[in-house]
Amino acid sequence: MQAMVLERIGGPLKLVERPDPAPAAGEVRVRVAACGVCRTDLHVVDGELPNPKLPIVPGHEIVGRIDALGSGAGALAAGMRVGIAWLGKTCGQCRYCREGRENLCDRPLFTGYTRDGGYATHVVADARYVFRLPDDGDDVAAAPLLCAGLIGWRSLCLAGEGRTIGLYGFGAAAHIIAQVARWQGRDVFAFTRAGDTAAQAFARQLGARWAGASDETPPEQLDCAIIYAPVGELVPAALRAVRKGGRVVCAGIHMSDIPSFPYSILWEERELKSVANLTRKDGEDFFAVVAQAGIVTQTTPYPLARANEALADLRGGRLQGAAVLVP
Ligand SMILES: [Zn+2]
Ligand SMILES: [Zn+2]
Repeated sequence: MQAMVLERIGGPLKLVERPDPAPAAGEVRVRVAACGVCRTDLHVVDGELPNPKLPIVPGHEIVGRIDALGSGAGALAAGMRVGIAWLGKTCGQCRYCREGRENLCDRPLFTGYTRDGGYATHVVADARYVFRLPDDGDDVAAAPLLCAGLIGWRSLCLAGEGRTIGLYGFGAAAHIIAQVARWQGRDVFAFTRAGDTAAQAFARQLGARWAGASDETPPEQLDCAIIYAPVGELVPAALRAVRKGGRVVCAGIHMSDIPSFPYSILWEERELKSVANLTRKDGEDFFAVVAQAGIVTQTTPYPLARANEALADLRGGRLQGAAVLVP
């Protein structure tokens, strides 16, 4: 198989040839058709997440077909179209797993971070953490659903039922969640980097009622807001934009430091919380919504060997929607 491998923190990914991995008991091997490029991949490459497995094959927005099975792989079979996401494995025994909060497991494995991911022609996954996908469908279009969509969905659920919702950072996650929120009958307010009129126009095109810069005051108080950009300054900005009792959700795995802010913008029962990882139930719920809501993703495909270029374009804010690697 071919894989893009990160050998050292901060280094470029290198294209290497490896033997096709063999699935162990309880595992499946998937021939990768498409793998989305997520901001978390940048955090892995830049060493902003502790203790990655090195060398590591990044990538946790994987769509492909099963091409080999270990023993005991459950109801999965060769040829099935599946998705593999960030949550690669959980222990099933810690208090969080027992409480149905496997996203917080004490001993998890994460795809493309602590186990090899999908910047490759093949990937091996634990059969219990693989999502069945409809047999037909565009693999490139489906890839961003596996993290931008899924973590976006979890953050939307945690934001509550508010009608007016702010989305800070209008990239891969927000462009999917804006569509879900519109389908749910909510009003979307999109916040982008100052001067990014292209992203603001993109947000309006996807049904946002208003789009502007992240330091602007929206025309209406927000019931809730989700911060997708890894920028700590957005926390006080979002707290100022939500009404009394409103909620701000930080959806990223990493964020720059949050500047100090006056207590008055948190007071009046405003809430601030973060989202970590996902559960398998999030996936089941979200893929059911995708089927009903007619979500359309915007993607820019790159050949696998150009993964470094895709990461650079994500870092530079040169993408609308999501970059997807195609082996
Ligand atoms: Zn656990
Ligand atoms: Zn991700």
